[in-house]
Amino acid sequence: MKQILFLFGLLFSVLSFSQNDAEILESIYSKSLTNGKSYEWLDYLSNQIGGRLSGSANAEKAVEWTKGELNALGLDRVWLQPVMVPKWVRGDKEIAYFETQTGKKEKLRICALGGSIATPKNGIKAEVIEVLGIDQLRALGREGVDGKIVFFNRPMKETLIHTFESYGSCVDQRYAGAMEAGKLGAAGVIVRSMNLRLDDFPHTGSMSYGDLPLNKRIPSAAISTNDAELLSIALKEEKNLQLYFKQNCEQFNDVESYNVIGEITGNVFPDEFIIIGGHLDSWDLGDGSHDDGAGVVQSMEVLRLIKKIGLEPKRSIRVVLFMNEENGLRGGKKYAEIAKEKRENHIFALESDSGGFTPRGFSFDCSDNNFNQILNWAPLFKPYLIHYFEKGGSGADIGPLKNDQIVLAGLRPDSQRYFDYHHAANDTFDAVNKRELELGAATMTSLIYLIDKYGFNSIKTDQNIKD
Ligand SMILES: [Zn+2]
Repeated sequence: MKQILFLFGLLFSVLSFSQNDAEILESIYSKSLTNGKSYEWLDYLSNQIGGRLSGSANAEKAVEWTKGELNALGLDRVWLQPVMVPKWVRGDKEIAYFETQTGKKEKLRICALGGSIATPKNGIKAEVIEVLGIDQLRALGREGVDGKIVFFNRPMKETLIHTFESYGSCVDQRYAGAMEAGKLGAAGVIVRSMNLRLDDFPHTGSMSYGDLPLNKRIPSAAISTNDAELLSIALKEEKNLQLYFKQNCEQFNDVESYNVIGEITGNVFPDEFIIIGGHLDSWDLGDGSHDDGAGVVQSMEVLRLIKKIGLEPKRSIRVVLFMNEENGLRGGKKYAEIAKEKRENHIFALESDSGGFTPRGFSFDCSDNNFNQILNWAPLFKPYLIHYFEKGGSGADIGPLKNDQIVLAGLRPDSQRYFDYHHAANDTFDAVNKRELELGAATMTSLIYLIDKYGFNSIKTDQNIKD
C-alpha cells in the first residue's frame, strides 16, 4: 500500500499537482451540488427581475440586486464601475404576414433586431427576394433588390458539432444584412432566426448599419425557422407575393449603467488579478437565463465557494458582471480601459457565456507555454467528465483585456441545445437544469483554484510559488 501511495505521490509531482488538489476539487464539486446557490440566484434574476436589456429599468434592478448579493458574501470589496450604454427599446409587438395574389394571408412570427429602426407607422409592404447570403445579394445588384424586402435564409449548418461555429458562419446575415441591402435600395430585411431547430420562436440579436447614412437605413427583423421554411416554399410557388411587417422600435440617447465587481484580495500577491465573469444584460424577449444569467450566477458562485470552503487565495480574485455585452460590449471595453489606466496586472480571465448546460471543459486563448501548463491539470478534472481543454476563443467581454501575457478562457458547456434558446422568448429559467448549472460553477471554481495556487510559469515575476 505504502508503495502504491509513493507511486501516486511520484505521479502527482510529475503531473504538477498534488493529492491535496484532488481533494479540494472534490469538496468544490460536492459543495456546489449539495449546498450551491447558483440556481437559487438564477431563479431570482430570471423570475423576479427578468429580461435585462441595457438601459432598461430591469438592467438597473439587476445591478442593485447583484451588488447586494455580493456584499452579503463578505468579500473584501464590492463596487460599481460606471459605463455609458446604448438604450434601444422594442416598443409594441411586431406584426408580419405574407399575402398571395389570391388574397391568402399567412402570419409570420417576427421580432425586430436589436438596433434596427422602426418601419413607417403603417408598416411596409413589398415583394420579397430570397437570398442565401450577402454575396448572393450583391450579385443581384440594385435592379434585383431596389424597393424589395430582402429575405436572408441561409440556415445554420447541422453538420458542425461546435454549434458556435455554425452560428459564426451564419450571423453575418443578421448583423450586416440590413447594411448591405440598404446600400442597394432595399425596403427592409427579414432574416431567418439563428436557430438549429425548426420552431416558432423568432430570435433577436444585434445588427449594425455601419456608417450607412440615415436615409439609407432600413428596418430589419428576424422570423422563426418554421416561418422561414414556410415563406421559402410560398416564394417558390409565387414569386410576387407581398410581405408586410411593422415594428416601432426606437434608439434613445446613451444612459449610465454599471459593471458590478466584487473582489477577494489576494493574501500573497494582491496585485495579480484573476477574473471570472459573465454579462448581466440580456435581450428582452425571454429572461436571459442561459444568456447570460447562467454565467452571472456561476461567476458569483465561484467567489462564494472559495469563501465557503475556506480557501485563502494568494492572488486577488474578482467577479465582474459586465453590462451591455449584447448590443455594444461597452462593459467589457470599460473594464479593460480602467484596468489599463490603473496598470493592473491581470494574469487570467475566465468567462461563462455559452449557456448553463453540462460543462465539457474550457477553451484557451494564450501562449503554448501557458496552455501546456494548464493541460497538466486535465487529469484532475477527469472524475467530473471534464475533458475538453483546447486552444480557441474565450469570451466577448474579456476579449478587450487581451495582451501577450494574460491567459483568457471560456467555459465550454455542451452546445447542442444552446441555439434553441439564444436571444429568444424561450430563454427562460425552466430551460436551465440545476445540476448542469452547478457543475459549471464547480468546474470554473476548480480551474480558478489551480491558477491561483500555481500561477503561470511563463509570467516573469518572482511570484511562481509551488506548494
Ligand atoms: Zn451572451
